[in-house]
Amino acid sequence: MALTDTTAADLEACLRDLFPLHRSITGAGNRDTLRRLQRLIPLTIHEVPSGRQVYDWTVPPEWTVRNAWIAAPDGTRVVDLATHNLHLVSYSEPVSARLTWEQLAGHVHRHPTLPEAIPYRTSYYSRTWGFCVTAAQYDTLAAGGPWDVHIDSSLEPGSLTYGELLIAGRSQAEILVSCYICHPSMANDSLSGVVLTAFLAAARMQQQTREYSWRVVFVPETIGAITYAALNEGAMKKIDLGVVITTAGGPGPLGYKQSFDPAHGVNWHVQRVLEETGEPFKVYPFDIHGSDERQYSSQLFRINVATICKDRYYEYPEYHTSLDDLSFVNGGQLLQTFRAYECLFARLDARRIYRSVQPGCEVMLGPRGLYPAAGGTLRPETEGRSTLDLILWLLFYCDGRTAIDDIERRLHVPSGSLDDLVALLSEKGLLDRV
Ligand code: ZN
Repeated sequence: MALTDTTAADLEACLRDLFPLHRSITGAGNRDTLRRLQRLIPLTIHEVPSGRQVYDWTVPPEWTVRNAWIAAPDGTRVVDLATHNLHLVSYSEPVSARLTWEQLAGHVHRHPTLPEAIPYRTSYYSRTWGFCVTAAQYDTLAAGGPWDVHIDSSLEPGSLTYGELLIAGRSQAEILVSCYICHPSMANDSLSGVVLTAFLAAARMQQQTREYSWRVVFVPETIGAITYAALNEGAMKKIDLGVVITTAGGPGPLGYKQSFDPAHGVNWHVQRVLEETGEPFKVYPFDIHGSDERQYSSQLFRINVATICKDRYYEYPEYHTSLDDLSFVNGGQLLQTFRAYECLFARLDARRIYRSVQPGCEVMLGPRGLYPAAGGTLRPETEGRSTLDLILWLLFYCDGRTAIDDIERRLHVPSGSLDDLVALLSEKGLLDRV
């Protein structure tokens, strides 16, 4: 497999560059993130206005925050957004008030088990405000008061920002690569996927030839994926498979979340890639929770989306806290996952897909010299596969979505053993390469 010359240092430099930006589901931090990625790949940045209806959702107002803090009456700040992006609940509405601890307590969040950690909290769709603090800060606040609470933020009509890159291949058939850009200052959740997606896209662009076209998207999670799917419904409905890249740079072992159809080829190829690493890895069956595969695999699209991860979301203690930081993720760890995705992409790009030219019932094989002359004597073979069996199976399965290697696995025949028949059926005008 051709590996590009991306290094651990390249990945880590990008990670460190993007880590401090204050991202959310909308806002300047997302635009800045995408603009910085434009140094690596020719991303198109799209803006979707607040209030736009996308399926059952509405693009929210744009959130802007200038500063936020909790201070004692003498001005001493106990909590300050300027020291960490996670200190403020994302989408907090503006506040300026002097509050007792009793009034403030319901708006202050600490981690239940990690005293050093600042937890990550959001409130995108119900208007409120809040601060996230370490256990020590919590104790200070609880022991004192009154507290001056200040959040200078606004929630106003603006837009949701996403990035898109279409990399053309010889075929118009597309593979989807998606990551989410909405998490502030956490390295493994969200940002590792953003960095890898950008470098993987750059590597795809450097390939001399590509069979498939690649649709690469950088969206805020959930609302961004829904918005993207709604605005690109026609193209998305044609896509058969893809990946959502996230939580891909932790110190733990590699693993992968399967797509909704465990028999789909994307899972088979991921499995082979991880087996080839020679290291143990985890397999997570499809689950209705997770990331944007929830949207892409919904009934209208049914895209088989897999995720290769390294310390998957939900599983590591530092998940959704300030401890998911630049000491938890490094370039060397990211490079391992980068290589796994590179191998996967090379495998996926090598898949060959054909469509039966006559999808309405069976074709007449006899006039094409593909059927034994004395039909009445024919009995299906119970052992092995006759040429006729394989021809019938190929015409049955070649639906413009199912790859030849998937068909080989379903028929339990060796890899490459259908090649001659595929060529024959193409020559006879019965199969068309997609
Ligand atoms: Zn998350």
